[in-house]
Amino acid sequence: MAAVTELHAYRDAIADCTRCALAAGRTQVVFGSGDPGADLMFVGEAPGFHEDKQGVPFVGAAGKLLDQLLAGIGLSRSDVFVANVLKCRPPGNRDPMPDEIEACEGHLWKQIELIQPRVVATLGNFATKLLSGRPTGITRVHGQEQETTLGGRRVLLYPIYHPAAALYTPRMLDVLKSDFARIPELLGREVAPQPEPVFLTPVTAEPAVQLGLF
Ligand code: SF4
Repeated sequence: MAAVTELHAYRDAIADCTRCALAAGRTQVVFGSGDPGADLMFVGEAPGFHEDKQGVPFVGAAGKLLDQLLAGIGLSRSDVFVANVLKCRPPGNRDPMPDEIEACEGHLWKQIELIQPRVVATLGNFATKLLSGRPTGITRVHGQEQETTLGGRRVLLYPIYHPAAALYTPRMLDVLKSDFARIPELLGREVAPQPEPVFLTPVTAEPAVQLGLF
């Protein structure tokens, strides 16, 4: 319950965020929505036109498809938490800029720290590259989970295509469905705790033994 209050307090605290230039053109900060204690968290790219107006991520056609994909594995929006890398809409829905991602990513790490999900599913390229810390695109890594530390927590990172991709390319829908079908199994998987750092014992220098000199 404390985490819920903390998450809501954090949402209220960043409602006036001006860390980057996107603050000037937004209608509102789109913090994210769903269960504040969800085991499964989705992270997309940035709010679009409708999200900016309504203050909720993933509304419109891509959001409806996300709802259908969730229903296919017996879940609904209220069972998961959905957020974006950027909390404010880039003008004209252009791609996020590196300085905007850098300014905003701290909000996402804090959300993960407070929600404490077991599985973080990244939707599309931007979120996948940021959270994996690797430049490899979604086409190569979708459907391949990896253990990692986000927001100070060990999680399973699970890259999948952005639902919008399936709106424009129908064959993607089958790929998305099959990647979604693995989510229940991933939610039941134990993630190994963070390995303890290994500190090497300092080696005390032995007095030099000069062999063979005499
Ligand atoms: S995009 Fe993020 S960092 Fe930029 S103003 Fe919005 S909440 Fe702040």
